Amino acid sequence: MPNTITNSDLRDWDRRHYWHAFTQMSEYEPLIIERAEGCRLIDIAGREYLDGAASLWCNVHGHRHPRIDAAIREQLDRVAHCTSLGMGCDTTARLAKRLADLAPGDLEHVFFSSDGSSAVEVALKMAFQYWRQCENARPEKTKFIALGEAYHGDTIGSASVGGIPRFHALFKPLLFDVVRAPLPDPRRLGPTASPQLATETFLGELKSLLQAHHRELAAMVIEPLVQCAAGMVMHPLGYLRGVRELTKRYDVLLIADEIAVGFGRTGTMFACEQEGVVPDFLCLGKGLAGGYLPMAATLTNDRIYNAFLGSHHESRTLHHGHTFSGNPLAAAAALVSLDVFDDEQTLARLSPKVARLGEHLGKLAEHRHVATTRQRGLIGALELTPDKSTGVPYPAQERRAWETCCETLSRGVWLRPLADVLYVMPPLAISLNEIDLMMDTLVAAIDVVTEK
Ligand SMILES: *Cc1c(COP(=O)(O)O)cnc(C)c1O
Repeated sequence: MPNTITNSDLRDWDRRHYWHAFTQMSEYEPLIIERAEGCRLIDIAGREYLDGAASLWCNVHGHRHPRIDAAIREQLDRVAHCTSLGMGCDTTARLAKRLADLAPGDLEHVFFSSDGSSAVEVALKMAFQYWRQCENARPEKTKFIALGEAYHGDTIGSASVGGIPRFHALFKPLLFDVVRAPLPDPRRLGPTASPQLATETFLGELKSLLQAHHRELAAMVIEPLVQCAAGMVMHPLGYLRGVRELTKRYDVLLIADEIAVGFGRTGTMFACEQEGVVPDFLCLGKGLAGGYLPMAATLTNDRIYNAFLGSHHESRTLHHGHTFSGNPLAAAAALVSLDVFDDEQTLARLSPKVARLGEHLGKLAEHRHVATTRQRGLIGALELTPDKSTGVPYPAQERRAWETCCETLSRGVWLRPLADVLYVMPPLAISLNEIDLMMDTLVAAIDVVTEK
């Protein structure tokens, strides 16, 4: 068949008609991926890029994993979609059971949606409705507490609990009111404060807010261990456990948003496991279907679930759902992704990769234009500075982090900054050699951009 569409046509259409997410379209340079293989993306001109941000934090086992590809094809031969309203697919039922078994503690019930923002919305609505119809109802519990610089998605409800001014400030008139706890970033206390002091301080701040507001609080929402969109802010050890203890003490439900950190990102299947925490709601997305297809989930326990049971006329039903909730193709990808975790020993094989990333970050910390580096599992982050003695950032308008990523792209590594923060967050399947390539390229790009 003759193909008269040129790459130049595609770039033109892409620029003109495809309004990209979180992208200033006036400066958008089309980057059009045609295929992928393992941790490499390949564009329409045949150029290859290492996927250093895991296709925005979701790819787990690499692209075109033969088993995931095959599982989706097999499902396709049976049924591509059926609704979750009053029915469902066998594949999705198997996935629900698998997630219930895998999740920490007693999170037995799985509500599916198609994206992370919706998974958070579902948790917020479940928590709200729970207090209206649980035994000894507490209908005054209508509010939520969330952390400074939180990110829970872009829909109005999930943005309401979000706290990143450059994303959320403009929409403030549309958002509901939230009790905001200060960002638990140890750097806020200066370089000499110990992690223990940071944990105590932040839990003290939270306790005061809970004391003042617990009567009206339905739930607290938190990104466990790492607030990714905030710029890879890493909480001090023990903070999450303390949050769980305080929320229990004040009878405030806990929503753990593991959309970014779930599925091995911080070294364990779920971040909550690292502090022995069982939340009341666990929100999953991004890596749930291996990063292949849109799928998210909100898990909860019997206490919440049972409050929604009753005869039809009692109106206890959760009136919420999405057309593609529990989609069978995505469920097939998710199920086999969990098999791959087992069969390829993905988590056990992560430690040397985490260590190798740590070696690179350790060296980078000595770089004369790197302020500090930090790491949690297979997430590494750093800021650039013109003056190492003070660590002050470059003027924001110079966009050095952005420039650095343009430079790595020209050298075959795709990264994307978060404002002034440079980070790497590759698929868990990345090899040691690819980690070396990614980090060596990042250093070369930093050299170029900081000598300008
Ligand atoms: C990405 C993300 C979301 C939103 O997920 P979408 O699928 O983009 O709607 C929510 N919370 C966290 C922590 C995320 O990283």
